[in-house]
Amino acid sequence: RLCDVRGTLTSRQTEFTNAVAVGDEVIVSEDGAGGGVIEAVLPRRGALTRPDVFYSHLRQVIVANAHQLLIVSSWREPVIWLELIDRYLIAAERSGLLPVICVNKVDLVEDEASFEATFQPYNGLGHRLIATSALTGEGIDELRAALQGKTTVLTGLSGTGKSSLLAAVQPGLRLRTGEVSIRSGEGRHTTTQATMLRVDVGGAVVDTPGIREFGLAGLRRHELARFFPEIAAVAAGCRFSDCSHIGEPDCAVLAANATGAIAPSRYHSYLQIHPTLPE
Ligand code: GDP
Ligand code: ZN
Repeated sequence: RLCDVRGTLTSRQTEFTNAVAVGDEVIVSEDGAGGGVIEAVLPRRGALTRPDVFYSHLRQVIVANAHQLLIVSSWREPVIWLELIDRYLIAAERSGLLPVICVNKVDLVEDEASFEATFQPYNGLGHRLIATSALTGEGIDELRAALQGKTTVLTGLSGTGKSSLLAAVQPGLRLRTGEVSIRSGEGRHTTTQATMLRVDVGGAVVDTPGIREFGLAGLRRHELARFFPEIAAVAAGCRFSDCSHIGEPDCAVLAANATGAIAPSRYHSYLQIHPTLPE
């Protein structure tokens, strides 16, 4: 049903440019003619936000009340990209979402040992990992069970098999990120909005535009290590308290990296992400 938003709600906005977002729980008064008015938005358990496209000092709520972030990657075609997974893990942590790593196209794995070795660091960090093949059906039951009863934000590179996985989980489940028209105090504008789909076993899947770009928005260089628990765990042993762990003398992180205590792929991601962040 199409609802209007009570004007006082929008004018009360301070921090956020949209009064209501996908996933919000709201109180609606019915107008008796099939329509309704959103009177209030209930307190959010959490929200995925990004800087507003039009008013960069404000934030836009992309999804409210989501539980977890499903990070879909593929073993091949396109080849697994660990740095992107690590970026999504940071985005999940910063947004208060539980990350679930889904590695799809495992039917293309030729060397089981190399697959295991690649993901060992994530098991070590306690992350949930689901190996799937939309082609053979491997891992699909586990994926469905992971979605059950939760609001899951879906993310991952195009071509990794997100659409195929959803169709395997539930025939007819199709994601579509739509252009919607939003009416605000400043008039009407079009924006790309998240869409939410109900899953039959309970729960919902949310497709959002580009978490990849905004997941690290506002993060500063010196804060990065905090989001790599295995780096943060040893950083207290560095000679300098403001050590960036990229070449200082007596750096405990470099030492741990040299002994293999920190996974090379994870440290590589740290090195890649670090210079892209503002000081
Ligand atoms: P999306 O862009 O993430 O939604 O990816 P799609 O679901 O459109 O899949 C991209 C391509 O990968 C399609 O050609 C699929 O047939 C193929 N694909 C999806 N899942 C698998 C899989 O598990 N194994 C293999 N070999 N191919 C897959
Ligand atoms: Zn250091």
